[in-house]
Amino acid sequence: MTKKILILHTGGTISMSEDKTGKVKPNEKNPLTSLTLSNQANLELITEEIFNLPSPHMDPDHMLQLSLRLRQAQAEGFFGAVITHGTDTLEETAMFLDLTLDSKMPVAITGAMRSSNEIGSDGLYNFRSAVMVASSPESVNKGVVVVMNDEIHAARFVTKTHTTNVATFRTPTFGPIGIISDGHVAYVQNTIARQCLPLTNIVNNIYLIKAYAGMDGTLLAALDSEATKGIVIEALGAGNLPPQTLPALKKLLQRQIPIILVSRCFNGIAEPVYDYEGGGVNLQKMGITFCRGLNGPKARIKLLVGLSAGLSGEKLAHYINA
Ligand code: ASP
Repeated sequence: MTKKILILHTGGTISMSEDKTGKVKPNEKNPLTSLTLSNQANLELITEEIFNLPSPHMDPDHMLQLSLRLRQAQAEGFFGAVITHGTDTLEETAMFLDLTLDSKMPVAITGAMRSSNEIGSDGLYNFRSAVMVASSPESVNKGVVVVMNDEIHAARFVTKTHTTNVATFRTPTFGPIGIISDGHVAYVQNTIARQCLPLTNIVNNIYLIKAYAGMDGTLLAALDSEATKGIVIEALGAGNLPPQTLPALKKLLQRQIPIILVSRCFNGIAEPVYDYEGGGVNLQKMGITFCRGLNGPKARIKLLVGLSAGLSGEKLAHYINA
């Protein structure tokens, strides 16, 4: 039986070309749309160029449009979907879709580190791998996955780790959930249960701040406004902050602004361990919510999804750690 796969192109290096001076630029026509894959037997690929954006131009409203299109695709009987995307913000779109799609339909996101006409271009290869993943019965109910460089990563933990290397996407702490080997898809881990919140609108003004040695309250004070809806802080180590930030944090909490804490460490999880001024135990007692295992950009997307779904207080805190 022929499987229908929806291809949504959104732009990024995978759709760009290098000019004679070595600068990489968007094309009017996506070069992937004129290519034929060698493994298309029994697949019907239906292509839509939903956006043509470098991924630093991607925002949560674009992500919502993608989510709504994918929800519709499942109702239309598609077996799976592939999204091509710039790699800079790919992990945030993947996270958003994973949190807002409650379907079992395979969704594979891919991109490229080298544009379409560069030597060693990885775009077509990654695209073909993503089609294999999206059409595999093994991918059903795995959530949204990122497919790059012969690896399959869960949207929740994958991150871009290198500015230019084709092996840029990694899952610190937990590793990839599968590989593409010898032309087939092999999963080695299951994904954990997800709580999905289908959205129809986006709450904006949710900020991400990184802590550093000697940090004071200046940046936090700049967010002390009614317009601020939420803040994620990439804290130090297991989840600690310099004591000079505390007065500004207290003011933000008095305004009932949710503050979520993750670690700026690349590996591991943030937890309230230290009981000193600015230590995690102290921060949790003040009303700051720890978010275990997510990096800053992903925790920000999760907070955005929770707030956009109308969650607050205890329910929001529970969702952040679900
Ligand atoms: N700057 C590009 C983008 O994210 C990088 C890429 O696609 O790899 O659109």
